[in-house]
Amino acid sequence: MIDNIHACPYMRVETFELNPLGVNTYVLHDETRECAVIDAACFYPDEEEQLTRFIADNGLVVKRLLNTHLHFDHLMGVNFISSTYNVPLSCHEGDRFLMDDLPRQLTQFGLPPLDYDMKPKAITNLKEGDRVSFGNQLLEVLHVPGHSPGSLVFYNATAGCLFVGDVLFHSSIGRTDLYGGSYETLERGIREKLFTLPDETVVHPGHGPATTIGYEKRYNPFVGQIR
Ligand SMILES: [Zn+2]
Ligand SMILES: [Zn+2]
Repeated sequence: MIDNIHACPYMRVETFELNPLGVNTYVLHDETRECAVIDAACFYPDEEEQLTRFIADNGLVVKRLLNTHLHFDHLMGVNFISSTYNVPLSCHEGDRFLMDDLPRQLTQFGLPPLDYDMKPKAITNLKEGDRVSFGNQLLEVLHVPGHSPGSLVFYNATAGCLFVGDVLFHSSIGRTDLYGGSYETLERGIREKLFTLPDETVVHPGHGPATTIGYEKRYNPFVGQIR
């Protein structure tokens, strides 16, 4: 099913660490100059400019706007990117309620309400087993709830990398004490859906440095061994 992309396996990953909560925004692009933006988290005007300048300087066309989940820190620049490039947000339905409940999310983090609308006008749903394409790239969609009910992981099997949001971090996992969280569900999802991927798969998390499946299988203290 993915035969048509074997000719061009190369994908570039540009990482931007944005907003006061240090969210990783990823811009994925290839030789076709089409790109996908994952977790557009720009907040300050200079962060918006950083993203748009990178896209313009590289002559990129934004084809996809994807969110791993809808916690407010991953949502801060979604409306901006969606309206600037006229591209709908794609996310899991299970997190949609979070977008209607931003003041409560902010209060949970001890933050004051923000006076701008983070909700984009056009939203499409993604679910387990869906495939998202741009350029010569194909991302498989995995649903891994537990940090939030609608947490998604995007897997590029050809490029050997994963975009996991707050599901899995270098030597850690996402917190499970927020609304709809469950440690058991998250741990099982990581073990069954992520730790079964090749060891060399590069994991790009929503915060902090990249890691690999092999490293986390060995050293992550929050996930049971599968050996
Ligand atoms: Zn989160
Ligand atoms: Zn986060």
